[in-house]
Amino acid sequence: MSLKEVNCGSNALFVIGAHALSTEDEEVMGLLLGKLDYDKRNGIAERANIFKVLPLSRTDKRADRVEVDSSQLAIASEEAEADGLTVVGWYHSHPHITAAPSHVDAQTQGQYQALDSGFVGLICAAFQGDRHDLPPSLKVIAFQSDDTTNQPGGIFSASSSNANSQRGSEEPPSYNDLISTTRGATTIRRLWRSREIPLNLTGDFHQSTSSSSSLKALAKLQDALLQEETQSFSFYVNDITFSATSSRIFCNAVFQQSLALLTVDSLTPLLHVAAAKLIAAKKRVQDLKSKRDSLLLLLRQQQQTVSEHKE
Ligand SMILES: [Zn+2]
Repeated sequence: MSLKEVNCGSNALFVIGAHALSTEDEEVMGLLLGKLDYDKRNGIAERANIFKVLPLSRTDKRADRVEVDSSQLAIASEEAEADGLTVVGWYHSHPHITAAPSHVDAQTQGQYQALDSGFVGLICAAFQGDRHDLPPSLKVIAFQSDDTTNQPGGIFSASSSNANSQRGSEEPPSYNDLISTTRGATTIRRLWRSREIPLNLTGDFHQSTSSSSSLKALAKLQDALLQEETQSFSFYVNDITFSATSSRIFCNAVFQQSLALLTVDSLTPLLHVAAAKLIAAKKRVQDLKSKRDSLLLLLRQQQQTVSEHKE
């Protein structure tokens, strides 16, 4: 048995959406920080509560594939612990395709669940439809995977070769896509099948999910995107085959163009969000001041009434 439902704070979902919309051509990926609720009778995780997300910078980015440096996972665990949270799952985007988990997604999720049965996957489908006159749409689903290796219709195979557990193309599973666990001298290949889990949008009740915290996460998103571009630039500019002056000029031009696109597509919308939040915060302050003034007036009137009664 696994999770029955997933609760996601609105600020966390906002950051996932912003990350998914940051690029139309490649998948993005990040981690979900929060807490798991366990069934007291059997100690099995039944609910995942997502309070915060951590966008990750990619070491390989394509339309149907994303890879990250494993050192980021250790940093994420430390950050979660600092807030009294744990890493409860991962998210990735599906630009221009449906939110349905691919076979590779199901295998990857199954691999994570082998480590922690409460681990959950979120998929954010972005840029659905081809009409550019409409605002970009988003759909988010939560899923886990069931091990169907020994069920009717499941695939079972024993082999001594190692399976490739890396996330790859969104094509039907080949034997190399299937996650393997070693038993003795042979390798048991497992078939995981994805299952959607009810996803609830909740308020931001945890201290780490305040509005300023979500803005910090959005700022980290900018850092992650900038880091990706800087790493790509360093890789190519230090490549011996790009040593010619014209090649270096080309690398610099591409890097500058990438930074300009980041500014237009990601940083500028973020500044608009920050400006909108500032206006909303100022209005909130004004409303609270008006409420305070009316309460103080009411208090003075009541004090006056009490003193008149005494006289
Ligand atoms: Zn996917």
